[in-house]
Amino acid sequence: MGLFSNRKTIFVDSDVLVIGGGMAGCGATYEARYWGRDLNIVCVEKANIERSGAVAQGLYAINCYMGMQWDENQPEDHVRYARNDLMGLVREDLGYDIARHVDSSVHKFEEWGLPFMKDPKTGRYLREGKWQIMIHGESYKPIVAEAARKAATEIYNRIMVTHLLMDKKKKNRVAGAVGFNVRTGDFYVFRGKAVIVGAGGASHIFKPRSTGEGMGRTWYAPWSSASAYALPIQVGAKMTQMENRIVLTRFKDGYGPVGAYFLHLKTYTENVNGEEYESTWYKDTKALVGDYIDRHPVPTCLRNHAILKEVAAGRGPIRMVTKEAFKDPHLEQVGWENFLGMTIGQAVVWASQNVDPKHTNPELTTSEPYVMGSHATCSGAWASGPEDYAPDEYQWGYNRMMTVDGLFGAGDTIGGTAHKFSSGSFTEGRIAAKAAVRYIQDMGTDEPEVSEEEYENFKAEIFRPLETYKLGRNEIVAGTVSPSYILPLHGLQRLEKIMDEYVGGISSGYMTNDWGLNKGLEHLQMLKEDLEYLGAEDLHQLMRSWELKHRLLASFSVTHHTLFRKETRWPGYYYRGDHMKLDDKNWHCFTLSQYDAKSNEWAMEKAPVYHIID
Ligand SMILES: Cc1cc2nc3c(=O)[nH]c(=O)nc-3n(C[C@H](O)[C@H](O)[C@H](O)COP(=O)(O)OP(=O)(O)OC[C@H]3O[C@@H](n4cnc5c(N)ncnc54)[C@H](O)[C@@H]3O)c2cc1C
Repeated sequence: MGLFSNRKTIFVDSDVLVIGGGMAGCGATYEARYWGRDLNIVCVEKANIERSGAVAQGLYAINCYMGMQWDENQPEDHVRYARNDLMGLVREDLGYDIARHVDSSVHKFEEWGLPFMKDPKTGRYLREGKWQIMIHGESYKPIVAEAARKAATEIYNRIMVTHLLMDKKKKNRVAGAVGFNVRTGDFYVFRGKAVIVGAGGASHIFKPRSTGEGMGRTWYAPWSSASAYALPIQVGAKMTQMENRIVLTRFKDGYGPVGAYFLHLKTYTENVNGEEYESTWYKDTKALVGDYIDRHPVPTCLRNHAILKEVAAGRGPIRMVTKEAFKDPHLEQVGWENFLGMTIGQAVVWASQNVDPKHTNPELTTSEPYVMGSHATCSGAWASGPEDYAPDEYQWGYNRMMTVDGLFGAGDTIGGTAHKFSSGSFTEGRIAAKAAVRYIQDMGTDEPEVSEEEYENFKAEIFRPLETYKLGRNEIVAGTVSPSYILPLHGLQRLEKIMDEYVGGISSGYMTNDWGLNKGLEHLQMLKEDLEYLGAEDLHQLMRSWELKHRLLASFSVTHHTLFRKETRWPGYYYRGDHMKLDDKNWHCFTLSQYDAKSNEWAMEKAPVYHIID
């Protein structure tokens, strides 16, 4: 440890340890208290739960609400919807489990003070679409955070968790986590009997469209740095569907959401000549994916596909026809307010570019790919399903427990369950916490124990970038270029370039193939070796260093999964140029990976998709 041997170590004991205080983490913290009245419930968050995670800025709609009290939808309907959108591949047991409980979470949000828009005629929540209800949601996250704060024994803000700790006695059992305070630099050892990971998804593993000064302007939260995947991967948890990265069609430059425009304002898209274009690509798409193109609603990836084809044919950009809707002053107001609740930047971008949607139809674009588990995509950890509903093969332990004992997950962390969104992620956190409390109760006195050797080794590893920087800083040869270290920003840009060019990012039109993926893996491995020489100037850069390491591990996982699945299941999200067609005969299955940190090897396998609902 040399220079840093005096760094303070703080030990925290917990029963339930929640990592990440976003929607899932707040749901887990809240529910753990309900079932575990006397338990020690600790939530650890990299930022401050008051305004952290993808919902930090607020939302304008809750995108997952059944409306069972009014018989609007049933959980089975939502499973059918998600299955259709994900081209057949979802964990129906997990999706059903969320759908049957999600309404109760939404009702709690209202009780806690979240203002909902109501239909003046029926008094029901105002629907934006079949699954979405509209809210005045600027304070959505603070309201949810308050419930978690009141439930927790202690919330630890500003602590980045870097590694999980494993039990000294039982090989495949989790025992806690370590991390550091991004403000004080103190080292934290959290002991936990059960650990719930709710650390969000991954942005910035692919090169973003906005680079240079604007690189933080991405659709997905730039602080979502793949910890949700890296933490379980490091300890050998199985992951699923990591190839199912998502590409979003959004307003250009500001990434403002289009949902309210399509669903509530009834706007539509056209090519640069003012023509409808989706039907032009119907036959072409049918030849690739068969009947999936005939499903209703048309799967998200296939709508992207039509845009990409039309733009490649020279008839771009695709534009949103707003001029008609904006003639109605009420709709015009809704159109602007939609951004004020969650993406103020879009309104600012339009103002700065002289775009008034009343007079100009704004341009759309497709984003760089992101990895997440709660939107129109389902990457994440492979989890055990609900006892009363999951097929035997999907059940090896407690609900939402990963393949590591005592390690649970929710929200973007858990794979196979698309379209859970904010309310579904919160609900899944509750489901995971209930199961985690039972796991602790069943444990009796056989409690996990952390190993001093393990956490001391992590301590040395975690702070090494500070030491590397201090030792090498006088060798700078040109501004920020040093022969002794690589800065986190340099590493990030290298990672993004590799993923972009070899694994199907924007510059290759989301195209990749066997050769490119193998080449990508080769470059990722070289990057991994170079990251041993990361240099961090201060604690903020130390956080950036660990975010980068987490992003790198998730990128390996995405690349291995993409290589394994020899078909193009989701055209519009990515293309395997050497396997351009969807192949239901061989690939109507989940892909699973398991990383072995000791050998640095990835094992891949298939798992069956069970269609439980007709
Ligand atoms: C742009 C955008 C728009 C969306 N719009 C809607 C919408 O309109 N309606 C809707 O219902 N849903 C919407 N969603 C989806 C919703 O935001 C997510 O489904 C939900 O936030 C996922 O919950 P989560 O807890 O998994 O992740 P998050 O809510 O993102 O929380 C993850 C938390 O983990 C913390 N964390 C990360 N790494 C670490 C670490 N190493 N150590 C400690 N803490 C860590 C983060 O700081 C964060 O607080 C949108 C998402 C995005 C990105």
